[in-house]
This record gives sequence, C-alpha cells and structure tokens, in this order.
Amino acid sequence: MTNSYREDFPILLRDDTIYFDNAATSQRPRQVTEAMRRFDETCNANPMRGLYRWSIEATEQYEQARSDAAELIGAADSREIVFTRNTTESINLAAYSYGLNFLKEGDEIVVSVMEHHSNLLPWQMVSRQTGARLVFLEPEADGTLTEQELLSKITPRTRLVAIGHVSNVLGVTNPVKRIAEIAHQNGALVLVDGAQSTPHMPVNVQELGADFYAFSGHKMLGPMGIGALYARKELLEEMPPFLSGGEMIEYVSRESATYAEIPHKFEAGTVNASGAAGLSAAIHYLKNVGFYTIRETEERLTARLMKGLQELPYITIYGSQDSKKHCGIVTFNIEGCHPHDVASVLDSEQVAIRAGHHCAQPLMKFLGVGSTARASLYFYNTEEEVDRFLDKISKVRGWLGY
Ligand code: PLP
Repeated sequence: MTNSYREDFPILLRDDTIYFDNAATSQRPRQVTEAMRRFDETCNANPMRGLYRWSIEATEQYEQARSDAAELIGAADSREIVFTRNTTESINLAAYSYGLNFLKEGDEIVVSVMEHHSNLLPWQMVSRQTGARLVFLEPEADGTLTEQELLSKITPRTRLVAIGHVSNVLGVTNPVKRIAEIAHQNGALVLVDGAQSTPHMPVNVQELGADFYAFSGHKMLGPMGIGALYARKELLEEMPPFLSGGEMIEYVSRESATYAEIPHKFEAGTVNASGAAGLSAAIHYLKNVGFYTIRETEERLTARLMKGLQELPYITIYGSQDSKKHCGIVTFNIEGCHPHDVASVLDSEQVAIRAGHHCAQPLMKFLGVGSTARASLYFYNTEEEVDRFLDKISKVRGWLGY
C-alpha cells in the first residue's frame, strides 16, 4: 500500500533508507520547514521586545503556537504552556522550580523503573537536595503497571508521581489517568512525560488529570529546540522562575526584581520563535492526518513487524507480545549479536534503527540486558519498508558470521 504522506517529507524521498528511529526524532514535512522559512523571511525580529511591525508579527506567531500547543493537549488556558527546548528541559524546569521549592525530607517522589533518564535524573537531584525519597513502580514482565503496584507505592507520603505516558523502550502506555486518580486521592501531584505519547495519540491533560505534562517538538514532526511544559495555572503562579534574566521581569531595581506574569516568567531570554512557528505547522499537520489514521497505520505496521520478528526463533521482543500495546515501538535482541553490531550492519543496508540503552538503564537492568535494538515506526512508514526490514533482519546473523 502506498503512503501519500511521504510526498510531504523530502528526506524520505532522498534515497531508499528505511527510517525506523522515529521515537528518537521524527522527520519534518515540508509544511514545517516552510513555516520556519516564512518566519525567517517575513518577520524575524525579537518577539515581545519591539514596538514595530516585524516584532509584533513575530510575537503574534509565537503566541499562536502557544495556543495551538494548548489546544493540542487540552489545556484550559494557553498561559499554562511554557515553551522550553525539549522534554528534558521541561522536566528540569518542574524539578528545579517545583521540586526544590515544594518537596522536603519525608516526602516521596514516585517514578517507574521504565523512566527515560530525562524523567529520572532531575528527580534524583531533587531527592539529593531536599531529602525526599525516590520510590520505584516495578512493572510486570510485559511492562504493565498493576493496580496493586500503584496502590502499594502511591501513599499519603507521596507528594509527586513522575511517570512516562508511553515507554520509549517497551512502547507500553501507562495508566496515567488511574495513576493521577490515586495520586490526587493521596494529595500528590502528577507529572506526565509525554515525549512518546503526544506524537501518537490524542492527549487531554485535564481528562488525564496531569498537573504537569512535558513534550518535545522534534518527536512530533516539529523542529528540534522547541518543546513545552504544561502546568496548571495555580501551580505556575506559585512556582519561582527556573532561569532568570531578560524578558521574564516586571520591574528590576539594583537589588531585586519582580517577575512577569505566567508563562513569561519562565521564558527568560530570547525565545525560539521560528521553532514555535514550526511547531504550530507540525500540530496542524498532525491534526490534518488525524490521530485515528496515525494509530491505525502504526498498529497495522507494528503487527506486521512483530509477526515477522516473532517467526524468527532467535529474536526476543521485550515487553508485550501483543502488537497493539507497542505504540509503534519494538525493542528486540538477536541471539548472539550485539545490538550495536546489528544497528551498524543494518546501517550499511540503509536501515536506521536505534541500539543501546535508550537512556533507560534501570529498565535495561530490570530486563536483564545491557542494551537492545529498537525499531520505532510512524505513520509515514510503509508495509514495503517493514517487509524489506524483515528480510534484512533475517540475514543479520549471517552477515555477522554467527
Ligand atoms: N522522555 C522520553 C520517554 C523520551 O523518549 C525522550 C527522548 O527520547 C525524552 C524524555 C527526552 O526527550 P528530549 O531529548 O527531546 O528532551
């Protein structure tokens, strides 16, 4: 079956490369790069600072992107969106501004063993500096977090649960709505790492019950260097700035300063306005494709991919064996072959996959492996690519002399 979306992605037309590293970074359609070029060629000026037309237009585009991002994730108010560079910076903002100032010794921060390092190291830092204790949710072998596990780890001592929406290794979707219910019953807040969910599924932070929600533009067709932290308005208003300097102030004297209103008090310095224009275009593109189509295409391709891998007895697929529970992410190992060798030999065959620990070393330990290979799909991939990939995978052991 052909995929008409591919026409919009110049890089996919460049050669026969099978790009299966979409969980690391997705590709950008022409509409996104054109929106950024349009920004650069028509209104590149410092947003928020100039009283002249170009700067006003730059500000308008930047704020439009904020409204688009708010609508995408169902935020009640666009002021609840703080632009950052990426998910990592968003979570650090929450950790430095909320964690260091509102958590204390005796409190517990609940994370899962599956977290990307970006949703673990900031909380390790908060734990070290405040004395709050880190508590780990342990998944079942297929990546599921059971109700019993949630109820036993999220307790009245919990002040914050920081949880990935979709694991970048197992592809499992965590029950964040239920986690938020339990956390709120215990008086705790919930931060959702949405890096791997925002590109693939409709998200509504209010329905999920997320108090914080982080995502990256580059994983959802947008440019690198722009991401966002959503936080409820009351939280952002209470939280002190993370970075300080230009553009985030109301009034500055020699000794002190008062800060701008939210979200500007969290956006110190010149912002990434052309990146925001690109993010806006990415959001429009995703909406045009529609999350139903995205989900349906990914499920079809993942089922085909997993079936092919499951037919090879020397391949282990981590997480659920049900392709519907993978969100396009399939992590595996080939018996006898180091994942780095697998990725390198595939590169010489024009296949791009990821190999390594995927910034999730505690999960690797839990799985009992040092590293794995990972193929991650997006809606612009095709059945033909999956079949070519499977053909090459079946030859890898031979190529590596196993
Ligand atoms: N969280 C998850 C689940 C991820 O998969 C990633 C990136 O792979 C990140 C956080 C970090 O994203 P970024 O590098 O855009 O900050």
